[in-house]
Amino acid sequence: TVSPRSNTALVFGGSRGIGAAIARRLAREGHPVALTFVSQPEKAVAVVASIQADGGQAIALQADSADAQAIASSVKQAVDTFGPLQVAVVNAGIYQGSPLADFPTDLLDRMLAVNVRGVFLAVQAAAAAMNDGGRLITIGSNTAVRSGAVGSSVYAMTKSAVATLVRELALDLAPRRITINNIQPGPIATDITADFVDQLVQRNPLGRVGQPDEVAGLSAWLASHEAAYMTGSSLTIDGGWAI
Ligand code: NDP
Repeated sequence: TVSPRSNTALVFGGSRGIGAAIARRLAREGHPVALTFVSQPEKAVAVVASIQADGGQAIALQADSADAQAIASSVKQAVDTFGPLQVAVVNAGIYQGSPLADFPTDLLDRMLAVNVRGVFLAVQAAAAAMNDGGRLITIGSNTAVRSGAVGSSVYAMTKSAVATLVRELALDLAPRRITINNIQPGPIATDITADFVDQLVQRNPLGRVGQPDEVAGLSAWLASHEAAYMTGSSLTIDGGWAI
């Protein structure tokens, strides 16, 4: 008898915002979901509870994406619980703007650690625990194309790094039929944008901000069998902001 292939999805940074919407959506598509968080356990527990209330399977794991050891052990716990990964979504990321003259060095270091180093380490650890033919998805940003906002330089740099990393890693992963693609959202209604949502709405060609579920829908497609021929791509979903 052939044992059925595991269908585990791991979402790095799945407790709030875009990551929480992706975790819920992948659970609805039938994936047992492991999600990581760093600072707000109660939010992570709430996402797990809502997935379970819908009849899905989920666990929450505390793992700072700046910590290689924590990333490795979250992957191990996900696999120990639900089996090898079919999908991994690297969503954990932080945004804080500052003009050049005042840019704090510790903020520079933290954004590089989470948004760049953490993405590489998460992809590396997830790929090692993934089924052949699996799916890796990163959440970059439309600022890799164009931000148009003073103070976003370092954040945009980190997200450009993600887009380039994904394009190149597609070649490393192709022999195992693992695809890797990068979603580049524009302004989405989450905690990151809550304080300046009116400004964002005004500037956006489509006259609104996006909803986390709209990004989750694209993730679900990238995670599906239909997306098997797409790899190394960055897909911008931003209401036309970066045009
Ligand atoms: P939120 O701040 O709403 O949520 C961030 C999520 O990532 C939370 O689950 C948080 O966990 C987790 N997280 C943050 N830092 C770490 C860390 N060091 N280790 C593990 N988990 C972590 O952000 P959004 O949903 O808005 O953003 C998600 C991603 O989308 C980010 O990569 C962001 O850069 C990107 N993005 C967002 C846009 C937007 O307009 N909102 C636009 C373009 C890109 P916890 O609750 O424990 O803090």
